[in-house]
Amino acid sequence: MKVAVVESTESTALFDVSGATPSFLNALRRTLMSQVPKLAIEDVTVYDNTSALFDEMVAHRLGLLPVPTDLNQFVRRQDCTCNGEGCANCTVLFTLSKEGPCTVYSGDLIPAADAKFRIVDPKVPVVKLLEGQRLMLEAGAILGSGIEHAKWQAVTAVGYMEYPVVKVTGPLTAHQAERLAKVVPPGVIALEGTQLKVLDPVKGAAWLRSVKDLHNLDNVELSFEPDRWLLRVETDGALSPVVALRKAASIVMEKLKQVESDLGSLKAPAPAA
Ligand SMILES: [Zn+2]
Repeated sequence: MKVAVVESTESTALFDVSGATPSFLNALRRTLMSQVPKLAIEDVTVYDNTSALFDEMVAHRLGLLPVPTDLNQFVRRQDCTCNGEGCANCTVLFTLSKEGPCTVYSGDLIPAADAKFRIVDPKVPVVKLLEGQRLMLEAGAILGSGIEHAKWQAVTAVGYMEYPVVKVTGPLTAHQAERLAKVVPPGVIALEGTQLKVLDPVKGAAWLRSVKDLHNLDNVELSFEPDRWLLRVETDGALSPVVALRKAASIVMEKLKQVESDLGSLKAPAPAA
């Protein structure tokens, strides 16, 4: 099996996976959604809240904010040496103090220890404060996973599709070339006279599939490569998609090793007499 990165940003990535089965990719997909841990706000101590939202609603909104997560730095609170009381190894603390009139944004949460934990997107609105209204609180983020609560889900979207193959079997007609010349996406499809060239097979196949019938492109054959897939992973920015996928792979490996170890200790049943 081979994995290559087709494109990657802080929150989206497209992987080219060859030699895998749909069931294996589905195991990765489900692990990404439910098992890969990330930080999210779990505890909120409200000192003053005269906004229009109840304390519980404010806490719920804070829980959904993406907290930058370094998986090598933290342990789950239940596994921590602090016995669940909260310490620097399992908890990231924030403070928030605002007075209206204003809108309280995610960027108003100030990390107590290190600025690197500032919320990934500072412009997520939390609550609007009118003249004289105040919001003062402390919040603590801990590791969790999507199977416990959706706020800990490491990926916002993950899916896979068959790897597309485009075969151009002949030139276009002059009329087709004239019509397509006005709409071909630059850098994806090139049109030299009546010759169609696909520069980017992934984007090119998607575009050609959408216009093939409209322009009667009988000389363009679209199919899929067997056992090769495009895996798209999107996160809220708390983890990069590459880190999330690597963690998912290691979780699947751990489970398989556990199965191997448990089976290894089993004795084969005695043959029937
Ligand atoms: Zn701790």
